[in-house]
Amino acid sequence: MTGEDILRLIKEKNIEMVDFHIIDLPGTWQHVTVPVSEIEEETFTRGIPFDGSSLRGFRSIEESDMLMIPDPDTAVIDPFHAVPTLSIICDVTDPEHVPYARDPRLVAKKAEAYLKETGIADISYWGPELEFFIFDSVRFLNQGHQAFYAVDSEEGYWNSGREGGLGQTIRPKEGYFPAQPIDSTHELRTHMVKALQAFGIRVEMHHHEVASGGQGEIDLRFNTLTKQADTVMMYKYVLRNVARQHGKAITFMPKPIFGDNGNGMHVHQSLWKAGQPLFWDETGYAHMSPLALSYIAGILTHAPALLALTNPSTNSYRRLVPGYEAPVNIVFSHGNRSAAIRIPKTASPKASRIEFRTPDATSNPYLAFAATLMAGLDGVRRQLDPVKLGFGPLDRNIYAMSAEELEGIRSVPGSLGEALDNLEKDHAWLLEGGVFTEDLVQTWIQYKRSNEVNPVNLRPHPMEFELYFNS
Ligand code: GLU
Ligand code: MG
Ligand code: MG
Repeated sequence: MTGEDILRLIKEKNIEMVDFHIIDLPGTWQHVTVPVSEIEEETFTRGIPFDGSSLRGFRSIEESDMLMIPDPDTAVIDPFHAVPTLSIICDVTDPEHVPYARDPRLVAKKAEAYLKETGIADISYWGPELEFFIFDSVRFLNQGHQAFYAVDSEEGYWNSGREGGLGQTIRPKEGYFPAQPIDSTHELRTHMVKALQAFGIRVEMHHHEVASGGQGEIDLRFNTLTKQADTVMMYKYVLRNVARQHGKAITFMPKPIFGDNGNGMHVHQSLWKAGQPLFWDETGYAHMSPLALSYIAGILTHAPALLALTNPSTNSYRRLVPGYEAPVNIVFSHGNRSAAIRIPKTASPKASRIEFRTPDATSNPYLAFAATLMAGLDGVRRQLDPVKLGFGPLDRNIYAMSAEELEGIRSVPGSLGEALDNLEKDHAWLLEGGVFTEDLVQTWIQYKRSNEVNPVNLRPHPMEFELYFNS
């Protein structure tokens, strides 16, 4: 699509407003809305000015002028507006039209270009599985500087015991996947799927997830890297807005409820060259090719640092604990869900892929996918062998293994602070081909430490009252 096509679409569909989106560094959508009377063909080349200094992780106040350059291919009619509105995702440049190195979308595009440049593959496919909870109400109880919360859903109430509504509640960890009326959020998920389809997004299926609290999952069909990251942004936007229309709130927070499963964003991925899947080998372990095994080794080698981008919230590390189907060890496995990388069982070369299970949806999908690709490619370039490096394969339930049996098996970082320290020491692989810049990596580390790690660490925790109030 070109600017001209967009103008035609505006006329055809009687569009009244155009909503332009960009992605800030942590990974949320920001937008400005322009009446169509102000839109002309040049808008698409000239760009839309905005103040970059007010955005999280972007520029300083002295150099705030920036431009949104619309990507017409992302245009879609957005029903969550008062009047017919077209929504378009934009790239970010400075006033001279120089692409902005901290624009997450630029990093994703550079990663795709770099993949081709290496000659290893010409295309990568990404299939993220985003999990979420649906709540009826969320109360943040702010008392001075202390923050507490309580959540409520059709399936129960958390933080002060459980109340069962009509009694057809889902017990902890038994949400996958009884039919309605036990699955009381089924209808809402169906509305979400319809809305995603109206956005042009291909959905493979939807289902209740393991946790109670209306945990759900809607699975996306695989796509190429930047397009799939765009889709993740739309997915979160669509789901939040559909929930809101029904008087509910959803969260992708990795661990909203203690004692039940958390929300992951497992990322299925594969590399292809000249139309051929590169991960398949009939005779290899789990039908994986030597290239796939090196790619796995690259991700696992850099995992302690990579998680600072794929699991970038303080809450991420409350999910990565034993017993909840979330990975805790840096190993790969054929089918085992407690491993960081699982190789789904398939007999089809086309479906051959790996599932990286640690990521969650508090990540910025552009940076998370790009960084995962860079880690994998580093493994391929160095021909790393995951078996020699001690990453498995481990085809047993890791949660059930004793401390002795687990000796020598590495664990994921225990906190965001730890992951950021690792990223500080290990990030040359991200800088290959100029995909990430040193400035971006340092900005990320500083932003996360000062805005998330320290504010959480500095506050007394609710549990500390239970433990220490009377000690
Ligand atoms: N909710 C689990 C997680 O935190 C995953 C459940 C599943 O295997 O889909 O990763
Ligand atoms: Mg799931
Ligand atoms: Mg999965």
